[in-house]
Amino acid sequence: MKAHRPHRGGARWEEVERMRYKEEGSAPFRDVSRQVLFDDPAQAAQLRYFEVGPRGFSTLERHVHPHAVMVLRGRGLCLVGEEILELATHDLVHVPALTWHQFRALDEPFGFLCMVDRERDKPQLPSAAELAELCRNPRIAAFLAGDAIGL
Ligand code: MN
Repeated sequence: MKAHRPHRGGARWEEVERMRYKEEGSAPFRDVSRQVLFDDPAQAAQLRYFEVGPRGFSTLERHVHPHAVMVLRGRGLCLVGEEILELATHDLVHVPALTWHQFRALDEPFGFLCMVDRERDKPQLPSAAELAELCRNPRIAAFLAGDAIGL
């Protein structure tokens, strides 16, 4: 057993592979990497670190499993249900079950820890009708369009 030390500004760890967020083309996203920090079959939770590049974004999705998120680096915005939250280092965000969510970086890399169930359901993407329903809220429409101005 040994410690895995951070390097490169704290956003990488020794012997932790930096992986793609998800398969390219499987869902809309831009400039997101994923590192699995803790993954023990004897433990029900898994801890990952995601980093979103400047102006990048995670997939708009929902699923039965919740997310427990802590921001480690940078600033960003997060849609959780009908709420748009401005996030900075050490902020905590809970994404409840079956709640639409998306993370967006501002003008710098935005990194966060995310705890999930090891065994979890696949994310659902919004249908055209569900997306239209979300966009009836103009703030959410602006968020999803990538227009962070005025938030
Ligand atoms: Mn998710």
